Amino acid sequence: MHHFQYMDNVLYAEDVPVAAIARKVGTPFYLYSHATLTRHFKAFDEAFANIRHLTCFSMKSNSNMAILRLFALMGGGVDIVSGGELYRALKAGVDPSKIVYSGVGKEAADLEYALESGILMFNAESAQEIQILNDTAERVGRRARVAIRVNPDVDPKTHPYISTGLKENKFGIDIQEAVRHYSVAAGLKGLTVVGVSCHIGSQITRVSPFVDALNKLKELIEGLRGIGLGIQYVDLGGGLGITYDKEAPPHPRDYARAIGRELKGLDVTLILEPGRVIVGNAGILVTKVLYTKIKQEKIFFVVDSAMNDLMRPSLYNSYHAIQPVTIRGRETVRADVVGPVCESGDFLARGREMEMQEPGDLVAVMSAGAYGFSMSSTYNSRPRVCEVMVKGERFYTIREREGFEDLIRGEKLPDFLAVDRAVQGQGEGQ
Ligand SMILES: *Cc1c(COP(=O)(O)O)cnc(C)c1O
Repeated sequence: MHHFQYMDNVLYAEDVPVAAIARKVGTPFYLYSHATLTRHFKAFDEAFANIRHLTCFSMKSNSNMAILRLFALMGGGVDIVSGGELYRALKAGVDPSKIVYSGVGKEAADLEYALESGILMFNAESAQEIQILNDTAERVGRRARVAIRVNPDVDPKTHPYISTGLKENKFGIDIQEAVRHYSVAAGLKGLTVVGVSCHIGSQITRVSPFVDALNKLKELIEGLRGIGLGIQYVDLGGGLGITYDKEAPPHPRDYARAIGRELKGLDVTLILEPGRVIVGNAGILVTKVLYTKIKQEKIFFVVDSAMNDLMRPSLYNSYHAIQPVTIRGRETVRADVVGPVCESGDFLARGREMEMQEPGDLVAVMSAGAYGFSMSSTYNSRPRVCEVMVKGERFYTIREREGFEDLIRGEKLPDFLAVDRAVQGQGEGQ
């Protein structure tokens, strides 16, 4: 459920017609609903009300500071995967004692930054990382609270690019070898072992893979406690799916109930790292039709946003519903919705049945709140689009549209290429 609905054939975001926002900020733009963000965070967090837990929003799914701030004010923490994300989170006022740090390639400088910031926990993913974390902690005179991210080898039955908990994936330490690594970590002066963690994948639409993973973690915890390690936290990662098309993922309540059952008597604090399930359906990408190309074989709607703005269709062949911002009752056609980028893989939708569009019409790419803006780039030298949050009858730009000058920020011409040097063959030797 979200707050992007039609009234008299006009698409609204909460109480504002989407077209009115487009008139003000131009296109394309990401548009988030404050009410939806709030409701999704609450629905998730409150589902676990009976379990000692911490909801750490996985900010790689959407790292806009206004959104981080909103969740922080609701008591949420964050799951970070880089020093840059830590910087954003701290700037947004996230409590460091609610930050967990995941990621397969953490750099020493970022580990140091996180240590100095006093984050809750590092989810270490390799023996070498455990050593570097320890060295860094000893050097700065702090102890790092650490969990090992184990790979429980369960199949989340999702897209291969977003499944992370299988043996062949690059993430985590094989669960069979975990005890050995825990023993090493426990003997290091810079570390305090506090938890176990896993993250098995994304866009998971059933509860059973999570339950399977948790059961494997439980066995591990018993083993670790058996050798005297105090395990206080179980981090189950994120991964709960959403409805893009016809998927029917479990409600967070069902997810929480299944997890709660398994956790009974374990005496741990549960950490959750939801991303997509909170923000995915709380955002849309609004884009304008530039051209319609009616070829013999096909109809193309060329719109002003592209794979650089929303990468998921090109990267994962993901489905995003496309809805007209104004329903005009025209004939239904089958069309490809494509962007201006010079790649055949640049599409937002393929073979989609939808109302005929004309140049200047606006369409909304639905379910674009997660892994949308945060994965965007400036490929083809396209400035990044703006982000807007609507709240009731008002809307706020929460990230400005970039301009051409942003595209070249930081680029430098070496002296021998300076622009004020005469170009050879021009104005010379006449
Ligand atoms: C990406 C990621 C998440 C969030 O996944 P969602 O599917 O968006 O919920 C959580 N934890 C880790 C470690 C991740 O890499």
